[in-house]
Amino acid sequence: MKRRTFLAGAGAAATLAWPASRSLAGVLQALTQVSSDVRAIGGNGKEVTLPKAAVGELSDALRGRLLLPGSEGYDDARRVLNASIDKHPALIAQCMGAADVREAVSFASDYGLLVAVKCGGHSASGQSTCDGGLLIDLSPLQGVRVDPVAQTAWVAGGSLLGALDAESMAFGLVTTAGTVSHTGVGGLTLGGGYGRLARRYGLTLDNVLGVEMVTADGQFRRASAEENPDLFWAVRGGGGNFGVVTAFHFQLHPMNREVVGGRVMFPMSEARRVLEFYSDYSASAPDDLYMDFFMGQGPGDAPGGAGISVCYCGPVDQAERLLAPIRSVAPPAVDSLKSMDYVALQRSGDIDDPRALGVYLKAGFVSGVDGALVDQLMDGFEAHPARRVGFFLQHAGGAIDRVPMDATAFANRNASHNLGISVGWPMGQTSDPSPHVDYLRRYWAEVEPLTQGFYTNDVADESGGKIRSNYGPNYARLVSLKNRYDPKNLFRLNANIAPTV
Ligand SMILES: Cc1cc2nc3c(=O)[nH]c(=O)nc-3n(C[C@H](O)[C@H](O)[C@H](O)COP(=O)(O)OP(=O)(O)OC[C@H]3O[C@@H](n4cnc5c(N)ncnc54)[C@H](O)[C@@H]3O)c2cc1C
Repeated sequence: MKRRTFLAGAGAAATLAWPASRSLAGVLQALTQVSSDVRAIGGNGKEVTLPKAAVGELSDALRGRLLLPGSEGYDDARRVLNASIDKHPALIAQCMGAADVREAVSFASDYGLLVAVKCGGHSASGQSTCDGGLLIDLSPLQGVRVDPVAQTAWVAGGSLLGALDAESMAFGLVTTAGTVSHTGVGGLTLGGGYGRLARRYGLTLDNVLGVEMVTADGQFRRASAEENPDLFWAVRGGGGNFGVVTAFHFQLHPMNREVVGGRVMFPMSEARRVLEFYSDYSASAPDDLYMDFFMGQGPGDAPGGAGISVCYCGPVDQAERLLAPIRSVAPPAVDSLKSMDYVALQRSGDIDDPRALGVYLKAGFVSGVDGALVDQLMDGFEAHPARRVGFFLQHAGGAIDRVPMDATAFANRNASHNLGISVGWPMGQTSDPSPHVDYLRRYWAEVEPLTQGFYTNDVADESGGKIRSNYGPNYARLVSLKNRYDPKNLFRLNANIAPTV
């Protein structure tokens, strides 16, 4: 390959201190215009100079577009859901198929580039974009094909959850997906996949029958129980550490389209009582009753409140009996619980203006919501100065817990809930997020000791020791597979399994 004629720039050996990200775009754009080469950042943090000929060759080889700073569409493509993440890749490869992904991965590997992989862009810590590296943008790689006879679905690696739900439910079939339909199938599945059906059918990753992917050596591989079973084990929980998944093969399950779903909201004055009720009731719920607790306070004088979000997909004649206690815990302020279409319920939490808020999120797993946790959550919440904070408890257990811890890389099987606390701020109005971030860190410092491990999809930027203990007994096997499939750590923007070779 011509592009292997790597040209190290004058400053290649020195660690580059990039200016703040906005001016980085200007620097890169100016350089692209002034010289024929593109300055980029390697995975090791050092500057890399990409010869223009090699960049042109990559562009020609792709079916999708190669975007540089200043290219039309570059700004949209570099953005992620969390508006406070404002990064500027040197190159964005918009991949339309596995062949494009192979080209992009080979190019990144040849030059040792920093690589980000983006599907739905929902990583709260911004793992799916980067400053100065190559962004592999999977958004053109979308599509769902259901086989109603085999009751399976093939889903392209850049697809969003809404497409999976809509296509499979059209055949009376489902698999577990997350609760917001514009979340990416890629990131959600590789890290776990909690959702309204997870207690009944397991995590999204428990429903993966196989994947097609491109590993760090640029090779296209299949991984399933029969083919590359080690890799198959690793991608189910190992996040993006092992390569770029270009297609997922999912097990589907027959399910009625009509479920009982919606929210019961209570005034803030009842929040503690509702949380205490929720901790007991969610612990004893049958697998086909899924309940999330959430509590939030909006900006200004918005009253805020606590609520329970429900999906019941079991026998209809049991619904009234099971849901009545939720309605009677306190007088509801809003009660939208009703029989409804499952796909509509899955879209009901979508965010209207997804890229308007900066967000900071902390999360951890809990085994039961005991009195000490209720106290910490309520006390921290009440002390919030900026009134834009919320926490949620996503219901786990059921089928998730019945899979052995070492069956997949995902280790935190026995959590009863995934607890997340987030603070948000409107980007246009608040230039300095630090008061919000500092507040949440203080709040979390009190709550974290009551958690055990964390969901890598919510918290991907933790350091090595925390990642190691989070994977528990699965970590050693993950490291040996990382050593085999990605020894140079090309795929590092994730809950990173550091190779040891
Ligand atoms: C509004 C919102 C709602 C959410 N709801 C839920 C929920 O109900 N249940 C739940 O479990 N989680 C939920 N999450 C968390 C979610 O699982 C993570 O944010 C997840 O990373 C989203 O996947 P994505 O493809 O959109 O992310 P991206 O930001 O695109 O990617 C996240 C990570 O996955 C890697 N990645 C993505 N696609 C691929 C691929 N095809 N191959 C290899 N690596 C890839 C990326 O490199 C990156 O490291 C939610 C998040 C948000 C913001």
